[in-house]
Order: sequence, then structure tokens, then C-alpha cells
Amino acid sequence: MLQSFIDLLFPQLCIGCNQSLVFGEKHLCTDCILHLPETNYHLQVNNPVEKIFWGRIPIVSAYSFLSFKKQGIVQRLLHDLKYGNNPEVGELLGMMYAQRLATAGIFPEIVLAVPLHPKKLKLRGYNQSECFAKGISSVLGCKHSDHIIIRKRATETQTRKSRFARWENVGRVFEVKKPELVFNKKILLVDDVITTGATIEACAQTIIPFTNSLSIGSIACVVYQ
Ligand SMILES: [Zn+2]
Repeated sequence: MLQSFIDLLFPQLCIGCNQSLVFGEKHLCTDCILHLPETNYHLQVNNPVEKIFWGRIPIVSAYSFLSFKKQGIVQRLLHDLKYGNNPEVGELLGMMYAQRLATAGIFPEIVLAVPLHPKKLKLRGYNQSECFAKGISSVLGCKHSDHIIIRKRATETQTRKSRFARWENVGRVFEVKKPELVFNKKILLVDDVITTGATIEACAQTIIPFTNSLSIGSIACVVYQ
């Protein structure tokens, strides 16, 4: 009741088109939702996102919900999610994407998000990829976790590590903290945007030793074809 009154005085605007949202709409109006640039890559074997990882990491599949274009609606959504203190947008997109995945019979057991750098996490207060993971898992009824993988601080020096650990640590920004939780599980690892795929690849490398079923997903992808 109070919320309806507040909405009447200060109507919420659609992130996509800036028009007032009507009752039942949140963050995006129905028209913008209908016109989202969905890739449908989850339905396409050898899709452009999978090709990014060919010869790099052994994954089952890779896909992105939306196609990113500069000045487009996806850029506005991601901007709001990352800098607009609007974690709900990530959850909403995750829930929408999960409906597509469920229709295609894609049911991971755990959805993991690429961890944010601790400094950025502190600044932003939330990990936007984790919001997406949370939205997906809420619809698919699977687990999601932001405690399984950690991103080491850039300042963490290697001086106290043994020589072998130092060698092993080269290029390793991520670490699996609770390998028993991902062991032999069907995992979907998600990030916000996939461009070169370098970040999510580095993260995937740390999980691959524990599972033979890893897929990669993201809110959006920048693919030059
Ligand atoms: Zn709109």
C-alpha cells in the first residue's frame, strides 16, 4: 500500500527506455523485456562464446544471455547493476535466463560466480555476478555459492610459499576453498560479461581438476563475428 503510494509520487523508471514502470513491472518494462537482445547461444552447439574457449579449457558448453553493444540496453543494465547500487537487476536477469535454461533442459547442480576482487567487493558492497548466480539458482532450485572460490588479493605476496607452491601459484588469481563441495558436480560458472574470456578462463582452470562437467555462462557477451 505504502509502496504503491510512493510509486505514484515517484514513479520508477525503466532502465532500458526511461519510461515509467507500471504495476507489476520492476527495473524493466514489458516492452524492453520483449526486445532484449537474447543470444540463445544455450541452444546452439559451437556458438561464438564456446569458440572463445576452444583449445583453452575443457568445458561442456558456454553461453551468454544477452549480446552486448555499446550504448545499447545491455550496457545500461550492466551499468545499473555495477555502479547503480542495484543488485536486484542481476537477480532479475538471472531469473529470466534460468527460465530459458530450464526450458532447454539445462540444470546445473551448483552455480558459481567469478569472485570479485576484494577491493572492488568492498567498494560495491556486492558481487554483480553473484547476483546473477543467485537469480539463476532460485529458479532452477540448485545451489549457488560465493564461498567456494576466492579471488586472492593482488597484494598477496608469494614470499612465504614453498618453491612448488610458488610455481603452482603463477598466474593463479583464484583458489577453490572448498573442493569437496564441487567434486564431481555439474557446475555452471558465471560472470557478468565475457569479452576475451581471460578472467573466467583463469577461474575455470582452478575448478576443472575437481569436476568433469563445467559449463560457462554470463549475463552478456561481446562477440565480434
Ligand atoms: Zn523500457
